[in-house]
Amino acid sequence: MLDIKIEKTNNPKELPGADNPLKFGTIFTDHMFLMNYETNKGWHNPRVVPYQPLQLEPSAMVFHYGQEMFEGLKAYKTQDGRTLLFRPDKNIERANRTNRRICIPEIPEEDFLQAIKTVVKVDEAWVPTKEGTSLYIRPFIIATDPFLGVRPSDTYLFIIILSPVGAYYPEGLNPVKIWIEDEYVRAVRGGIGEAKTGGNYVASLKSQVKAHEAGYSQVLWLDGVERKYVEEVGAMNIFFKIDGKVITPELNGSILPGVTRDSVIALCKDWGIPTEERRISIDEIYEAYQSGALEEVFGTGTAAVISPVGQLRWDEHIMQVKDGGIGPLSQKLYDTITGIQLGRVEDRFNWTVEV
Ligand SMILES: *Cc1c(COP(=O)(O)O)cnc(C)c1O
Repeated sequence: MLDIKIEKTNNPKELPGADNPLKFGTIFTDHMFLMNYETNKGWHNPRVVPYQPLQLEPSAMVFHYGQEMFEGLKAYKTQDGRTLLFRPDKNIERANRTNRRICIPEIPEEDFLQAIKTVVKVDEAWVPTKEGTSLYIRPFIIATDPFLGVRPSDTYLFIIILSPVGAYYPEGLNPVKIWIEDEYVRAVRGGIGEAKTGGNYVASLKSQVKAHEAGYSQVLWLDGVERKYVEEVGAMNIFFKIDGKVITPELNGSILPGVTRDSVIALCKDWGIPTEERRISIDEIYEAYQSGALEEVFGTGTAAVISPVGQLRWDEHIMQVKDGGIGPLSQKLYDTITGIQLGRVEDRFNWTVEV
């Protein structure tokens, strides 16, 4: 058990009103969690303090060589007033997998969960209650040694900030247009693609800008070697429903192992839908599209939960997925997962954890 000191703010902010759209990632709560690491002391000084700017040396290693990791999960308010986390154990397990990959010291799982629960409890009044809203939780770790050399840092800062967020699609599920990237790549096997770290995102910006300029909201990445096999979308994993089967790329080392991905696979299998994790080429998808077998495409991630794909653009080819609307499986998955998160659908898998 961590002995977490709590220092409450003297100047609480005004809570966002019920009509505030809570644009993703723009509003932060009154408090944050901090914990330090030093080689000889381990993780120490866990505390909740008022949300405020950090003071860091300009030479802090994170600014130069990118040694940082992050996670993303949400807390939800149920109708009877409880605050639920969705599968935090999966995020914590993944956080330590990321840590191992980029030489950041691991955080004991029970301490990590205690830190999340404690700071969410302090700012529980910030968990919004309106349909589709939630409190986004962003744990992250940065390397803080003041040193311009390449090696793992000896000191780190673990931080958790909280942000109330609105419904990702205020008008309900909304199909997105996706640009299939065949020039740049995001990650290669053996690299850091399966770690949740900022470096993967900076590698993706150029394509994202290109796709936006062409009128597409996200990029679908192909494998970094042959540019042939589908990997994932921006900050989402990707699923295809072809001829009654659900197919998603296998976790091959360059794909981020999403918690939502894992939940979708579990539900589809539970519903008796044939579900495959395997390599899938873009040619196979194009053929399925041409023969009329491509029934649904959707992305999965904590932010949007399920994001139906209405159109895929691959070079000269534009694939309109069915009528460009929301497929029945996408809708059922969305309703079931958000239902479990909000305590409205029976949690048969024991996925929710009360704060
Ligand atoms: C976080 C993330 C996802 C989605 O993971 P979830 O755990 O479902 O939120 C997918 N791809 C990338 C690159 C990510 O960073």
